[in-house]
Amino acid sequence: MEREPQFDELTKAFSAYLKAKGGRFTPERATIIRGIQQYLSHFTLDELKVYLDEEHFRVSQATLYNTLNELVAAGFVTKFMVKDKAYYEVVFNRKSFCHQICTNCGKITEFCNAELDEMILTSKYKRFSISDYTLMTYGICSACKALLKRASRKKKTKK
Ligand SMILES: [Zn+2]
Repeated sequence: MEREPQFDELTKAFSAYLKAKGGRFTPERATIIRGIQQYLSHFTLDELKVYLDEEHFRVSQATLYNTLNELVAAGFVTKFMVKDKAYYEVVFNRKSFCHQICTNCGKITEFCNAELDEMILTSKYKRFSISDYTLMTYGICSACKALLKRASRKKKTKK
């Protein structure tokens, strides 16, 4: 699977999308696209803001929020919630996403499963043609599992 989104193409597609809507592809928006290049995986608005500030890209919180919303509306970026926190992810030129989300610490990682991919994309759907998919699985990450195990062992020895 091609993992690296193509940002020159994303820039082109986003500017074409904005133009069609009568909007403008401003330098701030180009900067935001450059910023999200740093995140091949999920990011929050705050994480992106910190990165842009550190790199001395001046973009207001409002512009950042609006641009991310536009990217979501255009279908180039997806937004999802984990533990009341909004995450963004670039989905441009990518077909499928399998996430594993730790319900203890909220960490999100991805996994690949060619068989699952094949099964979902070639399944028969009811009056529906599938184009892509996002899968969320929930559980406990290995770091949290080790921590929880240690904590329960401590409890037992205290008794
Ligand atoms: Zn965890």
